[in-house]
Amino acid sequence: MSIKLFIPGPTDVEPDVLQQLATTQIGHRSKTATELQKRISEKLQKLMYTDNTIILSTSSGSGIMEMAIRSCTQKRAAVFSVGAFGNRWFDMAKRNNIPADIFTPEPGKGVRPEMVEDVLKTGKYDVVTITHNETSSGIMNPVDTIGEVVKQYPDVLYLVDAVSSLGGAKIEVDKCGIDICLTSTQKCLGLPPGLSVASVSERAYNRAKDVPYRGYYLDLVNVVDRVKKNYQYPTTPVTPLMWALDYKLDKILEQEGLDHRFARHEKLANIVQKWALKHFDLYAEDGFRSHTVTTILNTKGYSVAELNQALMERGYMISNGYGSLKEKAFRIAHMADRQEDDLLDLLSIIEEIWNL
Ligand SMILES: *Cc1c(COP(=O)(O)O)cnc(C)c1O
Repeated sequence: MSIKLFIPGPTDVEPDVLQQLATTQIGHRSKTATELQKRISEKLQKLMYTDNTIILSTSSGSGIMEMAIRSCTQKRAAVFSVGAFGNRWFDMAKRNNIPADIFTPEPGKGVRPEMVEDVLKTGKYDVVTITHNETSSGIMNPVDTIGEVVKQYPDVLYLVDAVSSLGGAKIEVDKCGIDICLTSTQKCLGLPPGLSVASVSERAYNRAKDVPYRGYYLDLVNVVDRVKKNYQYPTTPVTPLMWALDYKLDKILEQEGLDHRFARHEKLANIVQKWALKHFDLYAEDGFRSHTVTTILNTKGYSVAELNQALMERGYMISNGYGSLKEKAFRIAHMADRQEDDLLDLLSIIEEIWNL
């Protein structure tokens, strides 16, 4: 039996999209490869509301996170974290010997622009990292108002992890002044894992050129140079996923349309959050709640592991709380191509299993 995934990635992939992976192999130095990458770039620019250069990486999203913080930090990075994936930026900095400090609001609270302002006015930093949508806590940070603050500091680069939101929530990259905005294919885009994408500003590219020891595989300059030259890559990219991405972006942009897609995610989020507030409580404070994944506090102390077992027998899967929130919370993702009917079915089955 196939299981409907309500986990925050990987998400289910539509059969016609999956079919694209079976496209005949092409040479990665061919004109066909160049045209494929060019088409994908133009579509992703629309999805991200940007004119910046689009790069792909044959790695999961963490690959571009590491590429970004390592290639862009000259002085010191200010990492703002509201959960496990925010902490990952800091961990990456440490492991790469990059000077960084981490700033963490109270549990359940989002990053406020004033907090970023207080940190940047020290003059110590040349990079800010933000998790747009923190998948562990279900907190969505205001990348637009934070962007207004970062813009006041012309030497500070703005790096945004949008792995669990890009394609599900509107992110206007150029308007927000985001230098690198990155995501993976297996979350809101509804594709298999194995590829990540990012927009890269000229500012980020120019900074990276001055940073020594950027590595090889994840060297931002190396990748951007090749893309700028002829829309190709220094190493062999995962072309089967590129076909699927090219195809899926048409469905997103033309078939569903961005406004519909974002509205659908928000609607599903509202349904789950209302339901959660009726029966349990929410981890994220009001005003900072994710449109793509909801972290629900397990106030009744039921067994989440047992719930998931019972759900799986009926063809559904949700997620336990992440890290220290395991069993203390559970997460329902409502991203990519999930529809309202499926979600309502899931919620009523949970009510039945837990006798709510
Ligand atoms: C899933 C996730 C990541 C990690 O992405 P991978 O593609 O697994 O490397 C990073 N940040 C956020 C917010 C995520 O949800």
